[in-house]
Amino acid sequence: MSCVKHLVLIGGGHSHVAVLRAFGMAPPPATQLTLICNVVHTPYSGMLPGLIAGHYRFEDTHIDLAALAGFASSAFVNDTVVGLDPDAKQVYRADGMPIAYDVLSINIGSAPNTNDVPGAAEHTIPVKPISQFLSYWKALQARIAGNDKSCQIAVVGGGAGGVELLLALQYRLSQGPHAQRLSFHLVTEEAELLSTYPPSIRETFHQTFTSRGITLHTNHRVHQVEANRVHCKNGAVLKFDEILWVTAAGAASWPTEAGLAVDDRGFISIGEAMQSLSHQDIFAVGDIASLEAHPRPKSGVFAVKQGPALAENLRRHLMGEPPVPHIPQSKYLSLISTGDRYAIASYGHWSMQGKLMWHLKDWIDRRFIATYTVLPD
Ligand SMILES: Cc1cc2nc3c(=O)[nH]c(=O)nc-3n(C[C@H](O)[C@H](O)[C@H](O)COP(=O)(O)OP(=O)(O)OC[C@H]3O[C@@H](n4cnc5c(N)ncnc54)[C@H](O)[C@@H]3O)c2cc1C
Repeated sequence: MSCVKHLVLIGGGHSHVAVLRAFGMAPPPATQLTLICNVVHTPYSGMLPGLIAGHYRFEDTHIDLAALAGFASSAFVNDTVVGLDPDAKQVYRADGMPIAYDVLSINIGSAPNTNDVPGAAEHTIPVKPISQFLSYWKALQARIAGNDKSCQIAVVGGGAGGVELLLALQYRLSQGPHAQRLSFHLVTEEAELLSTYPPSIRETFHQTFTSRGITLHTNHRVHQVEANRVHCKNGAVLKFDEILWVTAAGAASWPTEAGLAVDDRGFISIGEAMQSLSHQDIFAVGDIASLEAHPRPKSGVFAVKQGPALAENLRRHLMGEPPVPHIPQSKYLSLISTGDRYAIASYGHWSMQGKLMWHLKDWIDRRFIATYTVLPD
């Protein structure tokens, strides 16, 4: 019997890139490594608004997973995982091929939930998967350039992702010759933008929206979508030409279908060592994981911090050693950009805004990408 263990990583999320880099620097003993991801170039979503705003190129904001897997001497399978059998210890690819594992790690992120609102999947564009969103963005720019009609663009979702994306989109489209015929809207079920942020941040963004002429539809819970219109719980029917969906994160269904322990929203329940509560040979991190003892918002900063800790625990698990706990940070730096190379930073109740904060965000984000694209010899 072979004593080589097969570690399979699903998804090229913010934590798995750290695992690949760490294992490239110091390979775990007697381990065969496979990364399965549905994209070759994985995006850093913190830079998506900057890409939309025109400050970055595609290659500034994406990590080449094939190159990173090569650095880690890992096989790279460019496919989507659609199923898992934890008893047989196999994952299933979209092309039907099973892949056997000894240890599994899942870092597949989340996507705005379009299933709960009838019509949302058919008539809106979710921000994730980002590769699909970028194709839509290209097509939208071509559509706007290709006719002279007015165009009402709406983002549904008033969290940081929706706010930042809309401001970036408006900034970019307002640079072009078509600015006069475009109008921008944000629709949210909450009474205010950024409801989980401190009041001073909410007020700042409220002022930004007002000064930029963006129409805010608060207390508008969308409960049905048709072509070019959203129906809200309060009875309002709003008409738009383009509807972007940036609502709360939803989980892939296959972990639940596989019988993994999940929380009430379908995210994989993990313990402090990042192991599935139901299956000790399965780890999960980033948005897809839920640490119920220490709940945190779905945000990339947690996945980034989990990366090195996950690498350490996978190594320990492969070597038969006990894992070490990783408690996600309770305070973290949030940097939300407004499209125009300006950002608002907050850390707990502290906040600061300006061009300098954008440069700080730019520096942090570029450093993250460089860590995984400029690899040691
Ligand atoms: C517009 C916007 C801006 C944001 N800005 C920030 C920010 O500035 N800071 C911040 O902390 N958070 C930000 N977020 C939140 C952030 O996007 C997520 O929290 C973060 O990406 C989660 O990281 P992850 O590692 O869990 O997964 P991801 O980064 O989403 O990576 C998941 C990977 O798995 C792959 N994958 C998915 N499903 C499968 C499958 N079935 N099979 C194989 N591969 C699969 C994906 O292609 C991807 O490579 C933003 C979100 C949005 C929408």
